[in-house]
Amino acid sequence: MTEKPKVAFYWCASCGGCEEAVVDLAEGILDVVAAVDIVFWPVALDFKVHDVEALPDGGITVSFINGAVRLSEQEEMARLLRRKSKYVIAFGSCSHLGGVPGLANLWDRRTIFDWYYHRGPAVAGGDGVEPQEKVEVPEGTLELPAFWDTVKALDQVIDVDYFVPGCPPTPKIIADAVGALLRGELPPKGSVLAGTKALCRECALNETKPEKLLVKELKRVDRTKVDPETCLLAQGILCLGPVTRGGCDALCVKGAMPCTGCFGPLDEVRDQGAKGVSFLSSIVDFDDEEDIRRVLGNVRDPVGTFYRYSLPRSYLMRSREVKDHA
Ligand code: SF4
Ligand code: SF4
Repeated sequence: MTEKPKVAFYWCASCGGCEEAVVDLAEGILDVVAAVDIVFWPVALDFKVHDVEALPDGGITVSFINGAVRLSEQEEMARLLRRKSKYVIAFGSCSHLGGVPGLANLWDRRTIFDWYYHRGPAVAGGDGVEPQEKVEVPEGTLELPAFWDTVKALDQVIDVDYFVPGCPPTPKIIADAVGALLRGELPPKGSVLAGTKALCRECALNETKPEKLLVKELKRVDRTKVDPETCLLAQGILCLGPVTRGGCDALCVKGAMPCTGCFGPLDEVRDQGAKGVSFLSSIVDFDDEEDIRRVLGNVRDPVGTFYRYSLPRSYLMRSREVKDHA
């Protein structure tokens, strides 16, 4: 009997939504489970690290790793799974681009610890204890993972074969990626396993988007009565569909919410946020600097808007140079 492909799942710095997305395959998960041999999946099955260590190098067919890399333990596990796996897939926005946890790169570790363990409202009056890497107890020394200064996307730590984008990836692109793997029909190494064109191309509202789109004001979606039949950008709602990779079937727009860019940039774009800023600047319909400032000033959180999923993979990477792993 032919051996089934061995598959591992691992969860780094993320919210858990990517693991939920695998379960969201619904009955499709039964086909996956029948076709593969799951050898490591800490969130669902009781395998231990030594089970992975005991496997031969390259013995896992594919490891799906979600989440950004923030802790020493996550980096160690990513390196171990890389060594043990034929293919590593960065699964979901945080692993692909750094994701929402990557916005923590606006601060360094010291600043984050100062706020969350000493000054923040949630700890006011607390004992000011910070996480320690080593604690002595009567039974011996307890060790906790180190908290790195910089959040990284997975391919900034290990070699990655493919990327499955999304926050979280949709059931369809997961099923397509697993199918391609099982059939051995993989694209060139380094490919993002999703669409190759901008999201607008698959959005049902695209035909209502004017050929030459210009905006005179930006509106907040939570303070606007959205017309679900008209392109959101044409209504003045900042939708990042023109600068985002397709493949999700415009899910958010179908729910009358603008695309925030979770599928990441297109292949030819290196910096998703810079591309978004440049796109917005190109459609603001004013020549006067004051007017331009007023319109762009309506983007309340520029980093969170344009780099929501990709700060670690941008040219900026983090707010300032700090010694990593300090
Ligand atoms: S800008 Fe947004 S709403 Fe308009 S066509 Fe593109 S994805 Fe659809
Ligand atoms: S519409 Fe945009 S933000 Fe929403 S799932 Fe698709 S790519 Fe992600």
